[in-house]
Amino acid sequence: KVRVRFAPSPTGPLHIGGVRTALYNYLFAKKHGGDFLLRIEDTDQNRFVEGAEQYIVEALNWCGIPFDEGPGKDGGFGPYRQSERANLYYEYAEKLISSGDAYYAFDTSEALDEHRKDHEEKGKTFIYNWHNRLKLQNSLALSSEEVQKRLDSKENYVIRFKSPESETLHLTDEIRGNMQVDSSILDDKVLFKSDGLPTYHLANIVDDHLMQITHVIRGEEWLPSLALHYLLYRAFNWDAPKFAHLPLILKPQGKGKLSKRDGDKMGFPVFPLEWKDPKSGEISSGYREENYDPRAVVNMLSFLGWNPGTEQEFFELEELISAFEISRVHKSGAKFDPEKTKWFQAHYLQKTDNEILAKDFLKILENKGVTATLEYTTSVIALLKERAIFVTDFWELGSYFFVTPTSYDEKALKKAWKEDTAEIIEKLIQLVSETSDYTKENVQDNIKGWITSNEIGFGKVMQPFRIALVGSLQGPDVFDISAFIGKEETVKRLKSLLA
Ligand code: GLU
Repeated sequence: KVRVRFAPSPTGPLHIGGVRTALYNYLFAKKHGGDFLLRIEDTDQNRFVEGAEQYIVEALNWCGIPFDEGPGKDGGFGPYRQSERANLYYEYAEKLISSGDAYYAFDTSEALDEHRKDHEEKGKTFIYNWHNRLKLQNSLALSSEEVQKRLDSKENYVIRFKSPESETLHLTDEIRGNMQVDSSILDDKVLFKSDGLPTYHLANIVDDHLMQITHVIRGEEWLPSLALHYLLYRAFNWDAPKFAHLPLILKPQGKGKLSKRDGDKMGFPVFPLEWKDPKSGEISSGYREENYDPRAVVNMLSFLGWNPGTEQEFFELEELISAFEISRVHKSGAKFDPEKTKWFQAHYLQKTDNEILAKDFLKILENKGVTATLEYTTSVIALLKERAIFVTDFWELGSYFFVTPTSYDEKALKKAWKEDTAEIIEKLIQLVSETSDYTKENVQDNIKGWITSNEIGFGKVMQPFRIALVGSLQGPDVFDISAFIGKEETVKRLKSLLA
């Protein structure tokens, strides 16, 4: 059975790249009838950020890609937070020591800094591996008595992986195909730290094995770790899962990786949800709070590094599941395009039921102290929808359906105001007041009839009429607007324009 995992470290809000990784994992799992796990990789205590895990869970739920197993949803492979599994990793590190694949290292960070500096002065880079390891303080270089003595006296140590000195490693990636890595360039990565916790590398491999993960789908930044992970599986004598590394997400201009800072700098969110930094209090905007439809965000992300190979551009989640192919994921970086996201958003807003939009818009109205019925708001939405991208646009597009204009567009007024405008408005007030059954058709017939029989320029009447009702020359059919707000309000607004 296919089992995949999304394994973020709770070091801050999940950015859009992380959401894409989660999405591709989800699509792959669902396509193959498999399980999608959430594992929290929190073994680096220095980088732990309060609230990050909750944010991750909320973000996945908002996007509509919930996990099948994870914190609070045990599927028999928990716990799913590495901090709660802390006591199980040491035995695996020890196994590697017994098999000769790992060793104790006692070097202090000061001593390692010294070595780095020495090398730098000679124009070289210090690598802790076969090249240097016998000159350093570790169980491969020291006598076994010395090692035992240091262990007994509780001297601080780490456990390092012993990378092979010279071997050509053959690695496979589901997206990139076959690769070769020369093991002599690998360093002896720390697997277990002196604080008693595993590093990412050890915990990640042990957990993927114990949780029976079949496919590891993750960001390209982990490709350099693939050789080590491959060697770890071999050292443990475990079958390795298949690996797929997703392409980088690039800045909209295409130069360099999209960073967490880019969004607010350039005016678009790079986070699914708003995030308030617990330390600085700084707020970063999120797609949810910017009123995006999660389907637009998911559709946008699905195309950020993948395409279906057809002309279809709009995909519901179910359609994505059936169309998604890991082999169609691109190798090269994907340019982030905020305008494209807006374009998806416009599409999904048009597809959303008017009553649902009206309910959302009523909340916005309520915040402005405006009350209206659901029925009325739904009909207004139907009139304005075509021109809206976000639910918030309805205020900008049609506040006059709910409140009397408090000011007039000066330019429009100047253009529309002629010698006889005041008289015309007086007449409009009369015609409106005389219309008994106040429907769009009735008031329209009355006013148009008067215009025709008196041979007055149409614009001369309609422009001031519109300005009175709307405040500017914008908006849908004036008679629609007038019928919506009703006879009394129409008269009131016409009178205000005269005053
Ligand atoms: N904890 C790693 C991260 O934050 C997970 C990488 C992986 O999926 O193996 O990206």
